[in-house]
Amino acid sequence: MISNQGPHSDMTPSEETAWRFDRAAGQIGLSEDTYHLLRHPWRELQVSVPVRMDDGHVEVFTGFRVQHNGARGPYKGGIRYHPGVNIEEVRALATLMTWKTAVVDIPLGGAKGGVQCSPKEFSLGELNRLTRRYTQSISHILGPYRDIPAPDMGTNAQVMAWMMDAYGQEHGYTPGVVTGKPVSLSGSYGRDAATGRGVVITLGAWAEETGTSLNGATVAIQGFGNVGQWAARLIEQLECIVVAVSNSQGGLYNPKGLPLDALENYSKEHGTITGFPEGDAVSNEELLELPCTVLIPAAVGDTINQENAGRIRARIVAEGANRPTTPSADVILEGNGVAVLPDILANAGGVVVSYFEWAQNIQGLRWSEERVNEELAQIMVKATQGVILTAQARGCSLREAAYIVSVERVASAVAVRGFV
Ligand code: NAD
Repeated sequence: MISNQGPHSDMTPSEETAWRFDRAAGQIGLSEDTYHLLRHPWRELQVSVPVRMDDGHVEVFTGFRVQHNGARGPYKGGIRYHPGVNIEEVRALATLMTWKTAVVDIPLGGAKGGVQCSPKEFSLGELNRLTRRYTQSISHILGPYRDIPAPDMGTNAQVMAWMMDAYGQEHGYTPGVVTGKPVSLSGSYGRDAATGRGVVITLGAWAEETGTSLNGATVAIQGFGNVGQWAARLIEQLECIVVAVSNSQGGLYNPKGLPLDALENYSKEHGTITGFPEGDAVSNEELLELPCTVLIPAAVGDTINQENAGRIRARIVAEGANRPTTPSADVILEGNGVAVLPDILANAGGVVVSYFEWAQNIQGLRWSEERVNEELAQIMVKATQGVILTAQARGCSLREAAYIVSVERVASAVAVRGFV
């Protein structure tokens, strides 16, 4: 039965995504049959990944791949290497992918995978061996028309190249089996920047639609990895000023604006942003609560929660990370008039350009970076406008509207395919 209960503060990741789905299902009056079909993942796989470490011993890691829903196209979703990876979270992230591909209306389903490990502690050889063994263990459920992984936290273009190679050893040269590959190996121009670029496009489109000026707006970004760094670089195009950034070791704050080029050079040289002289040190918790116009969480999940949501001073939260805001925090932010651009919309730029990469691979074509960025902008702006219109029509939050749009699309696909 579709539940109407409010959120509670100790929900697991997949309870959170299920709760959000329930709200949308209730609002659109989804039938019980479709409700049950969409609420549960279609397949969950757990594997043991034995790896010969450099010192000669074998370590066994646990890996997962969850395929949540493939009604609208092949499953699609990233691979995370992180000590916190577990089936609960992978299930939640796979579910988010189903709604994400639907809200931007690209013909893909939702999946996610990961290995519980600390990639920073591995040598390149260990990382390569882990990736190959994990790929072999899940390859029977992958394929360019079945399930197409991509990078996520702790993985990158090099890891995708190894995955493609491991899959190809059995199936032949198959670039369309993974996206986010290096450009030199059938990757797409613009994929690296796509998620951060998508966050910035969504923010710009939302400001345009709502008549909000971002000129001189201050921005704090939690997470200075792929998403956070690209968002920082590109947000200056909206005349915004980046005043704070952080990574897992802590952050930096300069109310007058951080010199990003110098900061990136420092980070490359020292392997950390800690100690950069042109900003004051702040903790990750403090960064979230700084006075600023826009807050971009671009690291891990649940960082904005019931405990700190009331102290968030930003007027806009643009979610670069997946599930950075808990349902309880949503209620508090909404009560305080904070606009939240939800993850399934705001960070969808990566999967949109992954879709372009897959389409290019299948056709054996290569698009220019200009074409990639133009088509990305078209899709993101149209999706943002659609979500805003739905929110206005239903008098609900942008997150609820994004879920309503996507659940309706997936429900329609399962109906016409004859599942219900
Ligand atoms: P990344 O590994 O490149 O970077 C992650 C960053 O977060 C690093 O700077 C790391 O130091 C920092 N970090 C880790 N733990 C932290 C903590 N507890 N507090 C503060 N900072 C912390 O990962 P990424 O690809 O940039 O992904 C970041 C987020 O964006 C994840 O939630 C991911 O699921 C989401 N996302 C990524 C993509 C993509 O295309 N890469 C697409 C959609 C969503």
